[in-house]
Amino acid sequence: MSRKTQRMERENETMASSTTTTTHSRNRSSHPEKDNLRNYSKLVKEELCLQGIERFEAIATKTVEIKESHRTNRCKRCWHDKLTRCICWHIPPLPEEQVTLPVKILVLMHYKEYLSAGNDAKLLLALLPKTAKQRSQLYVFGKRGEWEKFQDECSIDPTHTIMLWPAENALTIEGFRSQLPEDSPWRNEHKPIPERLPTLRVILLDGVYSQARSMFKTIKRRFRANNVPVPPCK
Ligand SMILES: [Zn+2]
Repeated sequence: MSRKTQRMERENETMASSTTTTTHSRNRSSHPEKDNLRNYSKLVKEELCLQGIERFEAIATKTVEIKESHRTNRCKRCWHDKLTRCICWHIPPLPEEQVTLPVKILVLMHYKEYLSAGNDAKLLLALLPKTAKQRSQLYVFGKRGEWEKFQDECSIDPTHTIMLWPAENALTIEGFRSQLPEDSPWRNEHKPIPERLPTLRVILLDGVYSQARSMFKTIKRRFRANNVPVPPCK
């Protein structure tokens, strides 16, 4: 078996196993979601001959579509079975008055995590109040069109955009504040007036560590290529 074939086999296996969120063990051939993904993955590699980012986005986009079409039993908020396992009553949205600072959470979620019942970041999205000033936004990493929207959002005010990531040069909160421009209202330690604060965008990378690291590296590479400042890490 050639190295390329071996790699393709591994990718097939990885993608198929990533969609396993059921608690029941099933025969692989009787799992329509997996079968659809496997067939599409084969098509992308052997007939469409897509490579690199095109192949990644084609498979990711199809994976999201297949999940959405097969998991119609899932609650749209908590992603558990809406009839038997919905946990929404445990997680009421935070009262509006408790969320006063203008902070917007940008969740960049790996496509393999999307619609996974065990995912944690969707709880954060569910908890934050839905207001006119949107407090959070989900971007599915890999799904076509999502990267552009994510990058556009990060480009609005790079000075007040930060990424949570344990990088070697990660900043403390004080370190981040001290490197802000002198006139940034976020530098004022004492009783900040929310109305005067510009929105602080906080990027969360959601996935297992290898997926999050891959997203971190992609942000650095693609932002630099497009002249978008890479957000500092905290
Ligand atoms: Zn629910």
